[in-house]
Amino acid sequence: MSLDLAKCGMCGKATVVPSGGREICAACREEEQQLYISARTLIRERVHGSLTIQDVAEILRVDERKISHLVKSGYFQLVKKSLQLPG
Ligand SMILES: [Zn+2]
Repeated sequence: MSLDLAKCGMCGKATVVPSGGREICAACREEEQQLYISARTLIRERVHGSLTIQDVAEILRVDERKISHLVKSGYFQLVKKSLQLPG
């Protein structure tokens, strides 16, 4: 297995990941899962509304980069800038 140098999508620090793997460092994995659960709950509760990356970042008081990271990792999809759970 080869390794790549990547920038962690959560904290922005350089980290080594398996080639083609997700860009996240070991220290941020737990935070990522917690954030995913929090964001998923928000999105589910607003079935008829729409939330952008900025909205979710503001509500959860986290950096927008972290929400973008969840989208990039496939946890959520963006439909017309609105965050959706992958169908
Ligand atoms: Zn990190």
